[in-house]
Amino acid sequence: MNTSPSTTTGSITGTEWKPRFGVAMMSSLTTPKLMLERGEGCAVWDVDGNRYLDFLAGIAVNALGHAHPALVAAVSSQVATLAHVSNFFATPQQLELAERLCRISGAGERGKVLFGNSGAEAIEAAIKLARLNKGDGSRKRIIALTNSFHGRTMGSLSLTGKPALREDFLPLLGGIEHIPTTIEALEHTIDGTVAALVLEPIKGEAGVIDLPEGYLKRARELTTQHGALLILDEIQTGIGRTGAWFEYQNQGVVPDAIAVAKGIAGGVPIGALITFGDASDLFRAGQHGSTFGGNPLAAAAGNAVLEEIESAGLIQNATLRGDQLRDAIRAIDSPLIGEVRGRGLLIGVGLTEPVAAAVVDRALGLGLIINAPNESSIRIAPPLIVGDSEVAEFTDVFTRAILAQPTEAHS
Ligand SMILES: *Cc1c(COP(=O)(O)O)cnc(C)c1O
Repeated sequence: MNTSPSTTTGSITGTEWKPRFGVAMMSSLTTPKLMLERGEGCAVWDVDGNRYLDFLAGIAVNALGHAHPALVAAVSSQVATLAHVSNFFATPQQLELAERLCRISGAGERGKVLFGNSGAEAIEAAIKLARLNKGDGSRKRIIALTNSFHGRTMGSLSLTGKPALREDFLPLLGGIEHIPTTIEALEHTIDGTVAALVLEPIKGEAGVIDLPEGYLKRARELTTQHGALLILDEIQTGIGRTGAWFEYQNQGVVPDAIAVAKGIAGGVPIGALITFGDASDLFRAGQHGSTFGGNPLAAAAGNAVLEEIESAGLIQNATLRGDQLRDAIRAIDSPLIGEVRGRGLLIGVGLTEPVAAAVVDRALGLGLIINAPNESSIRIAPPLIVGDSEVAEFTDVFTRAILAQPTEAHS
């Protein structure tokens, strides 16, 4: 047995892991700033024992925070009973999760669920669904939005509207067009040749950008009128984060399908495509599948998370804490704070100068994890369990991180 410190992960301290990370990990990512060791509630600790308040939650994933007893119990007992069986067999956990997702999405008895293991896979399934909506054969176009994010696999990247992420991987899937996020562009584009319109109800990776007023309603009207599917990417917005199970419920619209992932199982990898109404009849047996998708381990985690969100009133908590955080952010007396965007516990802070990375670094140094999706936006997405003391701690540290940032006017 090799127990030398340089090869035993548990004994890494300081920054000695960084060169090893650079050697062993694919250079598709920049080297992370911290190596984390454990978490509890809304806090995580690094390998040196420093504590951080986690207001990113693994990018809107850790809905119940870290090491939540309900999730720990569900996963422990499931892995000790039956972890995986393949799609040749059903499990009670998988069926229960599918029925739950149909219920909370409002898809109800006409709803159907297809499981995968990530957001990108849910989007891949959505693209295949769109291809099945052929009409008389002339429906071939899929419409997505500029500055959107739908994942990094080749299919999901084809929908992603960020040239910088796409350029190195051309050619991507054909038949996909990106339009600006205006009602005018929608009205100009949606016709009988469109198979599907795919969009995020709030653009998370773009900096938590809300859709224009009335946009989603108009998207629904036009897609219905022309027989195109309205497919919503609720991967970041869904599972209670915006103060409803899903953001379209806040906006009073019923889609034909939604892609869900991130928050479902509190950190255990899972993704799902949920269809509504007639869209549930498009897939035929044999047309799609995944070895791991919806296995009993991930499904048990999902059931535990959704049950806890419901029984602990975490959707209401998302609205309440979201309002408190927004008030606190708006109250910071700094010319740096611009608009505050998003809904519930998906919060975007627009900065008036392109210093988001420096603010995030400063916050990290003060023990707070947040994120900068671009140079002038801060994204805040704490666990849904966040309470009074965490809101107070965030407010104190974030205020200091903002006020310590030299602004052009002062420097
Ligand atoms: C995270 C995300 C994805 C991709 O999910 P992965 O699990 O990283 O593949 C797609 N769409 C949106 C809106 C996301 O936030």
